[in-house]
Amino acid sequence: MKIYKLILLLIISPLILISQSNKKTGKMENEKIKKSDKEWKEILTPTQFKILREKGTERAFTGEFYDFHEKGTYSCAACGIKLFNSDSKFDSMCGWPSYFEPISKDAIEYHKDLSYGMSRIEVTCGKCGGHLGHVFDDGPPPTGKRYCINSGALKFEPFKK
Ligand SMILES: [Zn+2]
Repeated sequence: MKIYKLILLLIISPLILISQSNKKTGKMENEKIKKSDKEWKEILTPTQFKILREKGTERAFTGEFYDFHEKGTYSCAACGIKLFNSDSKFDSMCGWPSYFEPISKDAIEYHKDLSYGMSRIEVTCGKCGGHLGHVFDDGPPPTGKRYCINSGALKFEPFKK
């Protein structure tokens, strides 16, 4: 009997290890994406690359979404994670799509940006680190925030009806 138990244990233990390592890879979904500029260039359009990877800013009132009112989800044009919901979008008249809150806390990262002689808070994608825009304190309730985002950093997907 003892030998059978030992054999059984030998068979089962690797299976347990495999199931545990599968659990670990399950968590990888939230992990950051890192790619070289060359790899990003293959995925992104030149405009998307300029904004997301080189912190470019599209000219005001030229982007796809500043005057766009469809209901749906806005995701990162580089890695596809959901960033904003149309319910938090508002007309800021600043020339870029504006939202009063991101879809989740993890979606966005914040960085102090002192470029161009201004003190601003840059917002980047929580997954791939791509530059999205800036957040300001002159937004509407309930948050009072204005996430001022480049259309070129976003992809829109309408809600399913
Ligand atoms: Zn991203």
